[in-house]
Amino acid sequence: MDCTIVGGGVQALSTGILLEHLGHDTRMLATDFAYLDGDDVSTVATDYAAASVYPVAIESSFSEDELIRRARDSFEPFYRTDDVAVRKHTHYYLYEDADIATLPGRMDVRRASDHSGELPTRDGKSIQDGYVCSEYFVEMPEYVPQLYRTYEALGGEAERRTVTASEVDSLSGGVLFNCSGYGSRELFGDDSMRAMKGHILQVPYDGDDPLPFSYTYTPDEYSHYAYMYPRRETILFGGSYLEGDIVDGEWQGERPTEPMSVDGVTIPERLYTVTADIMSDYVDITPERIDAKYGYRPYREDGMRVERTGDIVHNYGHGGAGVSMSWWSAVQAVESVGEVPDGTLPEVASQVATHG
Ligand SMILES: Cc1cc2nc3c(=O)[nH]c(=O)nc-3n(C[C@H](O)[C@H](O)[C@H](O)COP(=O)(O)OP(=O)(O)OC[C@H]3O[C@@H](n4cnc5c(N)ncnc54)[C@H](O)[C@@H]3O)c2cc1C
Repeated sequence: MDCTIVGGGVQALSTGILLEHLGHDTRMLATDFAYLDGDDVSTVATDYAAASVYPVAIESSFSEDELIRRARDSFEPFYRTDDVAVRKHTHYYLYEDADIATLPGRMDVRRASDHSGELPTRDGKSIQDGYVCSEYFVEMPEYVPQLYRTYEALGGEAERRTVTASEVDSLSGGVLFNCSGYGSRELFGDDSMRAMKGHILQVPYDGDDPLPFSYTYTPDEYSHYAYMYPRRETILFGGSYLEGDIVDGEWQGERPTEPMSVDGVTIPERLYTVTADIMSDYVDITPERIDAKYGYRPYREDGMRVERTGDIVHNYGHGGAGVSMSWWSAVQAVESVGEVPDGTLPEVASQVATHG
């Protein structure tokens, strides 16, 4: 089947690879392509994903546990296949001043109090409660280019082009896959799309291997957490979720309540202070060493949209979970034009390892 994909982020790539693998003819049209056009293009959310395989800031009819299971199961083949930039590490969810009632359904989950090793903790503070689990983590600066190479090797064609709403009907003789993220607001008049701002801070890291842990840490003096993820060449930290929208090209929305300026960017101060405190044994963290940027999670108030209407298959609105849900969503989207046999994702993972 002839398929046109609008978008150049993680949904477009995963959907495009799956379609090509199953024998469809595809082309991908995007204003900008994630990472190929730099890693700081504000209209491409994929450039900013941390990216833990753990769904947050997403609306869906599925429960949180069901979403986690779908994300984890669909990423498992990519983790199991050598040479795909997906790994597993220990993740700590820690609270200085709160109790958690029940443990969530996470991989290898256990209470922090039952953990035998040290917990990442701020100087002079202690952990009241929390849990420790395993988590898949995607090394995005390697993974996204791997996906492009795979897509092209399988026969996909990518073109830089902005699609307008009036063009949509005439674009394809076959099926059009809409993976335009926040762009769906304008392209398909979807008023339930929001641009949820998130900051990413990175300091250089020169260890031989990435650190084997990450954390989501809620300090006692703040009502929200800060997170840390280890990349190969940087330590990445963030954890801001500011609601807003893009109006006439400008983002308008919430401002940090405790602001701090780092690298010319106004951030919620906890993103810096928590990680500077916890991680200073591993890496030299000073404001001068930080590279800061921010992007917008394509959050859809009406819920992530993966459905076919006529000759259009929508696959967008994944909020802060677009990487986590990418393979699961791609399967749902592609199933609307043909069968996706059991065992397809392991085959696709092998393709990524071979061509990427
Ligand atoms: C700070 C931050 C941290 C995050 N961390 C995580 C994480 O740890 N785990 C996780 O799973 N997710 C995370 N996310 C969310 C994730 O980045 C997004 O959900 C995901 O990247 C969305 O992918 P997408 O392909 O739908 O959209 P995008 O990556 O935004 O791609 C949309 C594409 O459509 C194109 N486009 C739009 N309109 C048009 C048009 N009219 N014509 C042509 N092209 C068009 C754009 O150019 C772009 O290529 C994070 C996001 C942010 C901002």
